[in-house]
Amino acid sequence: MRPEDILVPTPAGLCCKLGSFHIDPTRPVERALITHGHSDHARAGHGAVLATRETLDLMRLRYGENFAGSTQIASYGESMSLGGVEVTFHPAGHVLGSAQIAVEANGLRVVASGDYKNVPDPTCTPFELVPCDVFITEATFALPVFRHGDPVAEIAKLLRSVAVFPERAHLVGAYSLGKAQRVIALLRKAGYTAPIYLHGAMEKITEYYESRGIALGDLRPVRGASKQSLAGTITLCPPSALNDLWTRRFPDPVTAFASGWMRVRARARQQGIVLPLVISDHADWDGLTSTIAATGAGEIWVTHGQEDALVHWCATHGLQGRPLDIVGYGDEDETDAQDIDGREAGGTDA
Ligand SMILES: [Zn+2]
Ligand SMILES: [Zn+2]
Repeated sequence: MRPEDILVPTPAGLCCKLGSFHIDPTRPVERALITHGHSDHARAGHGAVLATRETLDLMRLRYGENFAGSTQIASYGESMSLGGVEVTFHPAGHVLGSAQIAVEANGLRVVASGDYKNVPDPTCTPFELVPCDVFITEATFALPVFRHGDPVAEIAKLLRSVAVFPERAHLVGAYSLGKAQRVIALLRKAGYTAPIYLHGAMEKITEYYESRGIALGDLRPVRGASKQSLAGTITLCPPSALNDLWTRRFPDPVTAFASGWMRVRARARQQGIVLPLVISDHADWDGLTSTIAATGAGEIWVTHGQEDALVHWCATHGLQGRPLDIVGYGDEDETDAQDIDGREAGGTDA
């Protein structure tokens, strides 16, 4: 049996013919297995959807009750037979409910990791290393220049700025699903107990995180707060809101953006970001290469982002690398796709 008999890239996404399903399909399919709730991976309109409870809940929040014909919950570590294959979901450490999906037949295991990171995150279950024969990896930050560093130091930078400018508001652009809640959790871990304000687009999803037992402290809607009362405070908003008339309600705002892309200074400057915070929910170069090596896989399939550098790295390390060229996945910080309440927050899936 060859790996392609288990999973094969098609225009609709990775397809398992033996099990009659697709993983993170970019077009409507009969049966979809979904790695996580970001809108480029989790789309509405499939027949049956198998995903973790959190991913299904997040899809329901985003798309409404009828986002799929039927749904089934997959628990981490629990194997199930689908047609001729065994399928198991494992934590991916990317956002709440995110999973890698292992597909196995005849002793050959292929792992589709979705998006992942192998660093601690107080808002989701840690990444689990799954030994496999073929590892399918993302490549969002697959260039040696991308080294994310310590998010705790980035949060300290934000808190220093808040202390230095007590008369100004701090606006932190952060993707609504995952990044925003992680930034809040990191602020709380750093001992920041003041109220944190939320853009309307983040309220529902942040409430959902809290309902799953993630304590985020005193959170308030920015809606209705007076300009003066926002002096010296921190507000989380979707990145696109940073360049919006919406910012006029804040006193002399300092704009920050929490993203792996903030490693590139020119990019921060171009977007008018005064306070770039290098905090990413994707593995950086070291994270990608160390994870690939640790899986023991001899064959590495590479999807979304900077495929070339990672495929080249594989070749120089005795591994067979292969770009997948599936169109339809993007980086959430880049695309800032859809607000959880269904309004476009600027930009679309790309
Ligand atoms: Zn993602
Ligand atoms: Zn992705």
